Amino acid sequence: MKKNKLLVANWKMELSYNQSIEWLKQYGPELKELATTEQVELVVCPSFTCLDYFKNYLGDTKVKLGAQDCSGHTHGSYTGQVAATSLKELTCKYCIIGHTEWKCSINNLVHKLNEQVAQKAAILIHEGIVPIVCIGETLIEKQTGKTLEILEQQLAQVLQAAQASNYTQLVIAYEPVWAIGTGALPEVQELQAICKHIKLYCAQFLDQNTIRLLYGGSVNSKNTEKWLQIPEIDGFLVGKASLDFQELKKIVVLVSRG
Ligand code: PEP
Repeated sequence: MKKNKLLVANWKMELSYNQSIEWLKQYGPELKELATTEQVELVVCPSFTCLDYFKNYLGDTKVKLGAQDCSGHTHGSYTGQVAATSLKELTCKYCIIGHTEWKCSINNLVHKLNEQVAQKAAILIHEGIVPIVCIGETLIEKQTGKTLEILEQQLAQVLQAAQASNYTQLVIAYEPVWAIGTGALPEVQELQAICKHIKLYCAQFLDQNTIRLLYGGSVNSKNTEKWLQIPEIDGFLVGKASLDFQELKKIVVLVSRG
């Protein structure tokens, strides 16, 4: 039996609260219908402020809700942060962590960032929310042949955290930093080799069946089919194209055909 592919729409901060609600009112009925597509699990990650509205609107339809980040602390004096417990109460099934846009927004040492991502993963796991862990190399790292080393560094602590809790569901989103929002794309062969390496590395910590690997970085309906040739890819993390409902629909249809 073919495994369902995971399609995650990352809305970033592209739409305001009102604009997001407008989007949902306009496309919500079709979105619910789209989510019934065989072979595809559809997740929408709007801004934090919209989660409550989306939760009520989507109810127990097949559209899953995700958040774009969470705190690395369970609760306490952390101004501006959002706890995984709240995300659970808001019925989020998934949460993106370690997105490169988050990493760039805070000035911290690389190993500290990896540690924070692992803390977030551990907290999400505890709440029963599936972490979508973003990893990816910069252009300089790619050009200097450091891609695999960097990806392993970004994964090690998260995988240890998941291993320690016997976790059974982890999503890794491989997003080359140079491909996010730029239109630049990897070569299929090159991407496949990287995806294979990620899966083999993860298998040192967790059962292969517990890991799903997404590709992200300028995915749209014109390039989706190309990535579908890569058997190691279990789905996509889609930014910009996911806000255009017709684009999203085309991607879902392509993914469902496999
Ligand atoms: C993303 O949001 O993670 C992303 C890959 O964005 P885009 O699809 O716009 O490149």
